[in-house]
Amino acid sequence: MKTYCIALVPGDGIGKEVIPAGQRILDALTSAEPSLHFRFEHFDWGGDYYRRHGVMMPSEGLDALRKHDAILFGSAGDPNIPDHITLWGLRLKICQGLDQYANIRPTRILPGIDTPLKHCKPEDLNWMIVRENTEGEYSGVGGRTHQGHPLEVATDLSVMTRAGVERILRFAFRLAQARPRKLLTVITKSNAQRHAMVMWDEIAAQVAAEFPEVHWDKELVDAATARMVNRPASLDTIVATNLHADILSDLAAALAGSLGIAPTANLNPERVYPSMFEPIHGSAFDIMGKGLANPIGTFWSIVLMLEHLGETSAAHRLMLAIEHVTANPRLHTRDLGGNATTPDVTEAMCALLTARTHRIHA
Ligand code: NAD
Ligand code: MN
Repeated sequence: MKTYCIALVPGDGIGKEVIPAGQRILDALTSAEPSLHFRFEHFDWGGDYYRRHGVMMPSEGLDALRKHDAILFGSAGDPNIPDHITLWGLRLKICQGLDQYANIRPTRILPGIDTPLKHCKPEDLNWMIVRENTEGEYSGVGGRTHQGHPLEVATDLSVMTRAGVERILRFAFRLAQARPRKLLTVITKSNAQRHAMVMWDEIAAQVAAEFPEVHWDKELVDAATARMVNRPASLDTIVATNLHADILSDLAAALAGSLGIAPTANLNPERVYPSMFEPIHGSAFDIMGKGLANPIGTFWSIVLMLEHLGETSAAHRLMLAIEHVTANPRLHTRDLGGNATTPDVTEAMCALLTARTHRIHA
């Protein structure tokens, strides 16, 4: 029997609602698949921890995470603590500390979910966004001086390394090659950002030579937003910088129905460190503590986690259950126009997962 050690980091806001829901789903999966077992360790890091200790997570926290097979993360963000402190003190600290340089964000319109795009059929939108996750605009390099004086200067330096750009582009080409359409769009802003983004374009052309089967093209990030809306079927795998892909993937999530559905994986592809799986949404201050959070983004993130762990049959089983649930409007949460609560959706998922397999396929 295989036992995986999973670190659970709910963090703040609705993270505290969707991560326990995710744990219920993993328990339900194991009750139906006796060969699969999870051991959980809970980490109470986040805003409350900050109020007690003055830091979002302890300095030895990364060492504690390293021992796990994977991390399931909720959200960092507290209404009473500045966002840059919560984000840098927890999520970015983990992504950079564990060198999770490939952030992947699958986007599809699931059964039963409406897209705001008028002429888009569900099969027209099937994207895999690859986001550089450790450097670029979010390198953390910069500073402020003359604070509070008229002379004040503030910089956020975007740092692009050849090694960092090459590894994310190679990852994206490899991923595109593994998908049926073998289609990759490299997104930059190399007209205005004339140094690092030009290097991206050059490296893309170099790496492309290793992948003759992949059709690839380039798009500027502003034009890419319009292309996502007007010609969604012209895109398949997409690779972009940390900032650009952050923005494009929230747009992608909205086009696919809701931010509450979208999943993501922060991968350390070499598996030197554990990878981290999380819904793309944040703490959602406006709905936290009310049972209104859509847990599907977390459940789909667990699918990505199971795939990463090599548990493809469990991953497939879970994805089928998710699609069964989204197909039923009575199980839609408020973000999807429904009245279901987080527990309603979670219990329906658990019932499907613990039922005999043929019921899910039926
Ligand atoms: P958000 O994702 O928290 O919320 C945006 C909107 O989407 C809100 O109206 C919210 O109610 C809705 N929404 C989000 N997830 C939902 C779900 N699962 N079900 C139903 N509705 C959902 O983004 P924000 O408001 O910009 O940020 C709030 C806080 O979260 C900030 O502190 C921000 O820094 C943080 N944040 C953290 C992460 C992360 O840790 N990965 C990501 C994004 C934002
Ligand atoms: Mn984001």
